[in-house]
Amino acid sequence: MNLQAMAGQLALLRTLESRAVRKLPPRALWRLRSLLAGERLTRIDGRYVVNSFLPPFPGPAFDALGRGIASLLAGRPVPVSAYIAVTTRCPYRCWHCSGAHRPEQSLPYALAVDTIRQLQDLGVSIVGFTGGEPLQRGDIADLVGAVDARSVSLLFTSGHGLTSECAARLKAGGLFGCAVSLDHHTAAGHDRRRGCAGAFCRAVDAVGESRRAGFYTMLQLVATPENMAEGEMDRYLGLAAEMGVHEIRLLEPMPAGRLLDGGAVCRIDSAQRERLRQVHRRTNRGGKLPKVEAFAEIEHGDSYGCGAGFQHLYIDAGGNVCPCDFVPVSFGNVRDEPLAAIWERMNRAFARPRRNCFLIEHAAELREAFRGRLPIPYEDVARRIDFAYRGELPGFYRKIGYRQATEGLLTYRESGGGRPVLSRMHGRRVGA
Ligand code: SF4
Repeated sequence: MNLQAMAGQLALLRTLESRAVRKLPPRALWRLRSLLAGERLTRIDGRYVVNSFLPPFPGPAFDALGRGIASLLAGRPVPVSAYIAVTTRCPYRCWHCSGAHRPEQSLPYALAVDTIRQLQDLGVSIVGFTGGEPLQRGDIADLVGAVDARSVSLLFTSGHGLTSECAARLKAGGLFGCAVSLDHHTAAGHDRRRGCAGAFCRAVDAVGESRRAGFYTMLQLVATPENMAEGEMDRYLGLAAEMGVHEIRLLEPMPAGRLLDGGAVCRIDSAQRERLRQVHRRTNRGGKLPKVEAFAEIEHGDSYGCGAGFQHLYIDAGGNVCPCDFVPVSFGNVRDEPLAAIWERMNRAFARPRRNCFLIEHAAELREAFRGRLPIPYEDVARRIDFAYRGELPGFYRKIGYRQATEGLLTYRESGGGRPVLSRMHGRRVGA
């Protein structure tokens, strides 16, 4: 074992500072440890970060994750992460915007703060602020400050508006991580994709501000066939290394938002998705370039699979609660009812973790239900989509010993009228 690996093993022992993690069943604890052992760790503010999908350890947010795993193993999945679109306002017009087709609005401050509290009461360990451009809100630092120590907060931004003053306010509010979208390694390439001249310079400056403020700093790239062409990805990774970011989040174009109705032209194919997985693995083995976290790898069936509505949720700027940032189906609105009730309803539909992306599998039905406005109410898609998943579990869940807690659980089925006919959860019946 080399020195770096030994240091990693020692660092992992600090996960045991969490009482909630120590109390996990031995099999889950052992598997969790071996899963983390293969990851590159970043030390920041005295804590270790595996990646932006897991809270740093040690600390209260990691405790929340430990409690979340215990709850999952007991058959009561809680959301690990939740992203809130605090506004739809944005100075850019990106070709792949997943927030498109939603009316222009912002989540009222008091409602946003109350929603954050409800999310944390549910057990969320990562709260992400997104948009639109979340920095278009003057009160974004206050919203970040509303997240108490039980969770860490992440900001997803184009970089527009991330001045040093803004970064200082976000730091004072307790922001942990900042992900800046950078769609290409050249100014011309990025500006074209953002629909705005000067976007590249602003993104690069924002990364600098994020680094200086001491945030866990990420780039976010939506990988297209074009930037997977020969040498292009290497140039992008090289630029990311020069900028000193900690992580690159590598997404693919999703049939959502602006791409919901015309997405077929920009989709990557399975061979290209496999290449993204290889970029993730190869880069992380090498250790010289920033960590790459490719969704193609993280959400692969052998890994964590699709967590939409099962361990992740998304709330749009109108208060609609959806399974993930890209699945435009609303299960209820935080303006109208408690988040816990909406989560239970959604989690009955997404009763099991899936090996494949729900959105990619059901894009055709969602397109059919799309009437020019998002999100689509659950009732409108329930007639077209059978939400129940009966396939094999993703690798992570099998490894930690998760089984459907109640094997006889009847998932959320729909009658011809689109109303739930029978639901039973956690061994008890719940009203439809
Ligand atoms: S639906 Fe697709 S994009 Fe959304 S969480 Fe699942 S795998 Fe990820």
